Amino acid sequence: MASIFSKIIDGEIPSYKVAEDENYYAFLDINPLAEGHTLVVPKKEVDYIFDLDDKTLSGMMVFAKKVAAKIKAMTGCKKVAVVVLGLEVAHAHIHLIPMNSEADVDFHREKLQLTPERFAEIARKLSE
Ligand code: AMP
Repeated sequence: MASIFSKIIDGEIPSYKVAEDENYYAFLDINPLAEGHTLVVPKKEVDYIFDLDDKTLSGMMVFAKKVAAKIKAMTGCKKVAVVVLGLEVAHAHIHLIPMNSEADVDFHREKLQLTPERFAEIARKLSE
């Protein structure tokens, strides 16, 4: 069965898209730690990130770099954290999180509740 992220990539499930090319897709995390919290996924459905072939894995970081530059410019954060963790979705993904202190990347913190309009506005700004 296709993962929820494959369904997002295929447009079966809606997402707030930030960027896309032939191999990767970036969209806003629906439970963000901060405005601009984005997920980068390979279109190739592989569960564990280090099971990706070398080309896809390295290309994913280059793709994420471009998205991170947009996040940094939009939020004015000091750096964009690059986080791979969690077992919830069996489709490799990188979290990109605006960061001004290490506490900003604490996944136990309460997530932001954003309106659909705000998600859409953030996605629009990041995809410009
Ligand atoms: P984890 O595997 O722990 O990294 O968790 C997967 C992440 O995907 C979580 O941060 C979820 O909020 C996020 N997520 C799950 N479903 C969706 C969705 N439909 N749209 C956007 N983000 C999602």
